[in-house]
Amino acid sequence: MNAIQDIRDRVPALAQTVYGKPLVYLDNAATAQKPVEVIELLNRMNSATNANVHRAMYRLSDEATNLYEGARERVREFINAPARENVIFTSGATASINLVASSFCAKYLKEGDSVIVTEDSHHSNIVPWQLACEKAGASLKVLPIDENGVWSAQDIIPLLDERVKIVAATHISNVLGIINPVKELIEIVHRYGVPVLVDGAQGIVHSRVDVQELDCDFYAFSAHKIYGETGSGILYGKEHWLEEMPPYMGGGDMVGTVTFAKTTYAPLPLKFEAGTPNFIGSAALKPALDFAWEISQGECGKAVKESESKIIAYMKGALAEIDGAVLYGESQNRIPLFSFNVEGCHPGDIAQILDKMGIAVRTGMLCAEPLMAHFGVTSMVRASFAPYNTLQEAEYFISGLKRAVAMLR
Ligand code: PMP
Repeated sequence: MNAIQDIRDRVPALAQTVYGKPLVYLDNAATAQKPVEVIELLNRMNSATNANVHRAMYRLSDEATNLYEGARERVREFINAPARENVIFTSGATASINLVASSFCAKYLKEGDSVIVTEDSHHSNIVPWQLACEKAGASLKVLPIDENGVWSAQDIIPLLDERVKIVAATHISNVLGIINPVKELIEIVHRYGVPVLVDGAQGIVHSRVDVQELDCDFYAFSAHKIYGETGSGILYGKEHWLEEMPPYMGGGDMVGTVTFAKTTYAPLPLKFEAGTPNFIGSAALKPALDFAWEISQGECGKAVKESESKIIAYMKGALAEIDGAVLYGESQNRIPLFSFNVEGCHPGDIAQILDKMGIAVRTGMLCAEPLMAHFGVTSMVRASFAPYNTLQEAEYFISGLKRAVAMLR
């Protein structure tokens, strides 16, 4: 039995061909392919259990509500949050970070204060904080990375003072694939009484996340990167912050009583879930997380770890052998994600040639323009692997890349 093939067999999109070639999908950091259990739930809810949640006294609405709230419980358990009140459904990691940047900062960020972000941040972990800083008259500080793309938790100490109101750190960079020491960072930052938000868009997929052990104040991620549906995501928050923060959006479902004179708010988590939520997409987080959990456990989990280590060793070695290739990000703690350039070849041209071979990779700024500036480039090619990708696919990718480079030079 081949564990990786068994995983692949459960993910129908992987079986397709592109230009007559088997699809080699290496853009998993952008979005992951879905297992059949997720697709079935989405189909079932769209074709049958389609009724608005929390509101009605009839069977379909009850069923939809149970599926939606069941997924919340699955998320709670998956990240080991203390209670359902800590788990807010959003439309994705971006929305989760915007929620905190807007709501937390409205209450706590004042003129002259500052927010710290890590230099390896995705635009989603930069721009919301800039908007909040602009509004408050506060400033943004940056925890820098070194030439290998690594930031050190200790380096935040000189940046911390009584004007810092929150730190927003990347768990795993979507460009460098480096697993950052967020636990150590949180420990240090907490000594100064400052809360920490972790952007876990990639972290939730590639590491075991226990929010109580991490002791993060907020953890944000998207469903679609962990085999779920687009337009759904999670904000975990410690209860006292979520209680103290004002609502982000107003509307149905987030209220207690409404009069023209005054409105009271619903208890957590609904206080932050105004309007009809993406209840179908969010319900699909249950089978998505079941799948993620299952493939990370026992013999299968072992096989995935071994396969990923082989892919990392192979890719690093193979890229180093290509004349003029530069891999960005160097650390022992990494996921199978590789952003690189090859001298004399435009990343877009490489991607287009690879596409004709059935290989899907991402190119461009990867939503991290400051990181591009750090490395003195305007674009990179990124190949990001999931547990269902094989070493053979990595080999096919490298042979395709070599052909592309030979054509472009
Ligand atoms: N942070 C990181 C590290 C990411 O990789 C991404 C997605 N590329 C995001 C935030 C934003 O996620 P989404 O677009 O799903 O909201």
